[in-house]
Amino acid sequence: METKTIALPKLNRLSPSLESTAIKLMEEAGELGAAIGKFRGLNGERIDLNNREVSRTIGRELLDVAQTAITMMFVLEEQHHIDIDSLLAEHVDKLIKKGYLSPIFPDTAQELLIDSLQAKG
Ligand SMILES: [Mg+2]
Repeated sequence: METKTIALPKLNRLSPSLESTAIKLMEEAGELGAAIGKFRGLNGERIDLNNREVSRTIGRELLDVAQTAITMMFVLEEQHHIDIDSLLAEHVDKLIKKGYLSPIFPDTAQELLIDSLQAKG
């Protein structure tokens, strides 16, 4: 199974809550949608950015979404005592049940968990 592991920092100069991160996540998702729509010329404006620059802008906005999702995971763990790692296996299982992912062998599930723990530091 192919995976992408990224390590994003816990923001230590903010005091996020579940509500503030939820709102921020929606804002960032909106910026991602706007970047895709605007820079792909979907709103009819003439755009002079080349395809590579458009894709890089979309990638930056996608990282904002990921950073906010990670921040929300820290909030869930620290303020609401939810163990995200224990939800990870459940999440992968759900993807398999929905047919989005081929069934994986126990070794792969174990590797996923180890990757997740290593990414946490
Ligand atoms: Mg953004």
